Formats: sequence, structure tokens, C-alpha cells
Amino acid sequence: MPDVSFLEDVLADDQLSTAATDRDRHARDWGTAERDASPPDVVAWPESTEEVAAVLAAANERGVPVTPFAAGTGIEGNAVPARGGVSLDLTRMDSVLDVRPSDRQVDVEPGVLGGRVDEAVASAGLFFPPLPTSGDVATIGGMIATNASGKQTVKYGKVGDWVRELEVVLADGSVITPGTRAKKSSSGYDLRDLIVGSEGTLGVVTRATLELAGRPDQIRAGRAVFGDLDDATAAVADVIRSGVDVAALELIDALSARMANAYIDADLPARPTVFLEFHANHGIGEEVAFCRRVLEEYDPVEIEIGDERAADDIWAARRELADATRAYYPDRESIHAGDVAVPITAYPDLVGVIHALADEHDVPIPTFGHAGDGNVHFDVLVDPGDDGQVAAGHAIYDAIVERAIELGGTATGEHGIGQGKRQFLRLEHGDAGVAAMRAIKDALDPNGTLNPGKIFPDD
Ligand SMILES: Cc1cc2nc3c(=O)[nH]c(=O)nc-3n(C[C@H](O)[C@H](O)[C@H](O)COP(=O)(O)OP(=O)(O)OC[C@H]3O[C@@H](n4cnc5c(N)ncnc54)[C@H](O)[C@@H]3O)c2cc1C
Repeated sequence: MPDVSFLEDVLADDQLSTAATDRDRHARDWGTAERDASPPDVVAWPESTEEVAAVLAAANERGVPVTPFAAGTGIEGNAVPARGGVSLDLTRMDSVLDVRPSDRQVDVEPGVLGGRVDEAVASAGLFFPPLPTSGDVATIGGMIATNASGKQTVKYGKVGDWVRELEVVLADGSVITPGTRAKKSSSGYDLRDLIVGSEGTLGVVTRATLELAGRPDQIRAGRAVFGDLDDATAAVADVIRSGVDVAALELIDALSARMANAYIDADLPARPTVFLEFHANHGIGEEVAFCRRVLEEYDPVEIEIGDERAADDIWAARRELADATRAYYPDRESIHAGDVAVPITAYPDLVGVIHALADEHDVPIPTFGHAGDGNVHFDVLVDPGDDGQVAAGHAIYDAIVERAIELGGTATGEHGIGQGKRQFLRLEHGDAGVAAMRAIKDALDPNGTLNPGKIFPDD
């Protein structure tokens, strides 16, 4: 156990804790099973860039690991300290610093919750489009570190597409400001995009300038219900292929619909259902009609598309799905709540493979997600007392991720590699790709103190 008393010279008493309750709260994220919880030796709550820099520099000198921690809603153990040391909790750095409506930009500290950004800019008619489904409970720093995305990514892109400039503290305590407030730049290596998605392994984000979008004048939302899952996935792929301008396009399978109904008393048809949203400043009716014509090719049981108010009910059920899966089968254990993404033409194939594996092994695998991005979320739920089923569950999980990569996709569309997906990094990027990533990590963090045990399979 490393000696962490050096932090007493860096932060005040009320910014440090070795209490079991605090260490325990920082030992897991949302995706961490109880058996995999791993506490830090100390939790530190810096309140400024200078304090973050002082903690990192002092820890780096002593070879003590530092793991950034925000809201802990990550799925892959990204913020869970693999080697003890310091859990650097960024949630006290939670100010919205400056809103500049004319530039459509906002400066925030990393611990600001996503929903607060939208609140702060709403009066200027603006919003931050790529918020994840967890946007109200996750921080901007966590979203930048995982390159998160959400239901509107199909139209607007992912979090990284909306980050203009960052302030980042490197492992040795030096501070850089990669990116620019200008719309574009060809100036040197793009360190901003290197930090985005680096899961706290290359630097700690202490400030971000985000770009904002204007709220659309017209919003429509609705759902299309299908009798058959293959029809639903084929319809999703065809909506994207046809170039319909959707602002959200999600799919939940019949099992997920039943889970949502049980968990929040929703009244969804227990069938594969596609949720849609449209944003426009004019001509939205034509876009909706065009989409309806594409969907009708796939024998939907019903299509209902209404005004903006319809969106609230639809998305309320979708938001709860991650929790609903856990509540529906209290006696089953999740092998892994996975997130993979494939090119849209491969989306029907991937969902079909998941359901075939579920049937073959008699294991429930609720499947849902940001379908318009070819992004599938799935949860392999096994009976923990049945060793055969647990082993099958692990094999199913590996087979799904490997199939996604084989189809030209990725092991993770939005949750990051963290600890849970490390075994797939080499398959996706090859030995040379992983070696290039390792060279970057070693150059920026030669002592390996920043969030060790993440991303790299051999770390
Ligand atoms: C119900 C539910 C729904 C979800 N839906 C989505 C979704 O739609 N899309 C999606 O992308 N994700 C989703 N997630 C996953 C999760 O919310 C995101 O990964 C989110 O971005 C994590 O933010 P956080 O503040 O909780 O970060 P944490 O979980 O605390 O940390 C995540 C990673 O970021 C690093 N980190 C945190 N702050 C900083 C910082 N300031 N500087 C550097 N590194 C930092 C941590 O070390 C860790 O590696 C969902 C999770 C849940 C529980």
C-alpha cells in the first residue's frame, strides 16, 4: 500500500479522505460487479487546476497511481482504481464559467453535470446535442474522457465533435490547452482529439470549451412497432441508407420493452420498437412523411409520430432500460453490459447473431441502443449458480464483441475500453496499433501513474 500522506502538504484536510465509506464509493462504477470493486488508498477532491497539477506532480514523483473519478456512471470500470493510490474526484470543480451565445460556446469545469450545461444555455436558445442517456447524472469531464455519445449522435455527432478547447493537466503536473476556440485549425498535432476518449490515462481535463447548437423550431417524435425483430433492424438500416434526417433512431427488442413496462410501469407494446425523433427549422412534415414511407416497407404493426410532447414519454422508458434489466431478473447476474458498434449495413446481422446466441444457450440478452449509429447495447444475464451457464455467458459475450469487430465495427461505440474490454484491443487495432498507442502513453506518462491498468491488455 503506497504512502499517500504526502497529499497532506498539497490539499486541505477537508479535501482528503481515507475513510472506508469514501474509499468504498470510489471502488466501483456503474458497471463494476461487487466482486471486482477495488478501492483507492485515498480520495482527493481538488478544487482548482493548480491543485490538480500539484496532486499529479507529487504523485508522479513518488510513482503513486492517480485515477480520475467523476460521477462513476462508467460501464467498463474506467474510473475504478486498478492499483490503489489516489482517486482524484473532480466533482467539486463544477462551475459553468462562461456562456458566449454569439459564438455558441460555453466554458465549463469538468465536474459539471451534462444537464446543467443545457440549463445554463437554454435561455439563449441553445443546447449541447451529444449528451448521453446518462446526461443528467454524468459529468462533462467523464463524457470527454470516454468520448460519450447519445440518442442525438445520429444527427449531431459525439461529444468529441463538440469539444473546441481543453485545459489538461499532464501526469507530471504540467498544463496544456489543446484545441482552439476557432471552428477549425491545422496547427500541429491534434492533442485535443488525443485527450478525448483517453479515459484519464493521458491527462486530467480541468476546463472545456464546448460548442453549442441552436434549438430547432420544430420537433416531432414517435415510435414504430414491428412484429418481427429482423423487420425492425432492416427498417433501421434502410432509414439511414435512405438519408432520412433523423435526430434520434433507437431500437429496443421485445424483452427490453417488457422490462421497461415492469420497471417504470410504462405501457409499451411487448414487441421490437423503433423510437424516432426529428428536428428541423422548416419542412419537418415532409421529413416525417418520407421516414414513414421507408418504415412502411417493413410491415410495421403501428407507426405513431406526434409532436414534441410525445418525446417525453418515449424517452422516459428508454432512459430507464439499463436499470430495468437488472431489476427484471433479480436472480440473474450480468456477465457484462456490453456496447458495440458496426457499420449500419451490418446492424441487422449483429442483432440477429445476439438473438440467435440467446436462443441457443437459453440465456436472456436484452438488446437495445442507439440503433441509427449501428450501436448495440446488450446484457448477458446468467444464473450465477449454474457454472455451465456462467461459462457459456462469457463465451457468448466474447463472440458478440468479436463478431462486431469482424463486421468492420468496434469493441465499444461509446463506453470506452476501461478494464472490461482490454482483451479485445489487439483484435481491433492489431499489434502495431496497440504499440503506437503504448508509445503515446509512455511519452506522456513515462512513470505510468495516470489511471494504470486501463485500455492496454498487457498493463
Ligand atoms: C443508465 C446509464 C446510461 C448510460 N448511457 C450512456 C449513453 O447513452 N452514452 C454513453 O456514451 N455512455 C452512457 N453511459 C455510460 C456513462 O454514463 C458515460 O461513460 C459517462 O461519460 C461517464 O461519465 P462520469 O462522469 O460518470 O465519469 P466516470 O464514470 O466517473 O469516469 C469515466 C472515465 O472518465 C475519466 N475521467 C472522469 N473525469 C475526468 C477528467 N476530468 N479528466 C480526465 N479523465 C476523467 C475516468 O478516469 C474514467 O476513465 C450510461 C451509463 C448509465 C449508468
